[in-house]
Amino acid sequence: METAKRQKKQGKIFVISGPSGSGKTTLLNKLIQDREINKLLIKSRSLTTRPRRWQERDGQDYFFVSRDEFRRLLKAKKILEWTRYLGYYYGTPRELVEARIIKGGHIGFCLDLKGAAILKKIYPKNTVTVFVLPPSLETLKARIEGRSKSIDKEEVAQRLALARRELSAASDFDYCILNNNLQVALKELKEIVLTHVGS
Ligand code: ADP
Repeated sequence: METAKRQKKQGKIFVISGPSGSGKTTLLNKLIQDREINKLLIKSRSLTTRPRRWQERDGQDYFFVSRDEFRRLLKAKKILEWTRYLGYYYGTPRELVEARIIKGGHIGFCLDLKGAAILKKIYPKNTVTVFVLPPSLETLKARIEGRSKSIDKEEVAQRLALARRELSAASDFDYCILNNNLQVALKELKEIVLTHVGS
């Protein structure tokens, strides 16, 4: 009993998920800039084999790796969960998560739906899942196009087709946030995090 009491409480894993373009990355990036949250939560970074977008920095937004390096890490079981999206691989580095939560620290993720479900399954007691809902498919299309000027029509169509299917999974999540007004959505996300890290 005494030993159990003295054991450090493990940290929480916040998984922000939802269709591409719904605003997951924007919300999590803004959330960790919040003064109150900044002391509590770090943002996890995924490994990816997709090319870097102009505004992204290696080691900040993602760890950009080659296909061969990704395969090597997978084989060495250094990747907790992974997915292939539009021809590129994305994965979560195991060490980053475990080192953090064992010490009682909290960590936030932007993940696809499958990744969210896997983390919930591996760490059921630690994981809190949040689905970010776009106001409409038209708005989602505009955001996807606005984010990357060079995106071709076919990729936009693929992302929208996937988004349509993904929207039906929102009810499997612990929370659902409508990202219409960014400040309102951000406030809701902050409240969710504070509720769980305080308990
Ligand atoms: P995701 O990470 O879910 O793919 P992003 O965070 O990259 O989505 O957001 C997609 C685009 O939409 C970005 O250009 C972002 O600036 C914009 N965006 C996100 N949330 C809002 C919002 N509430 N209102 C207007 N634009 C937004």
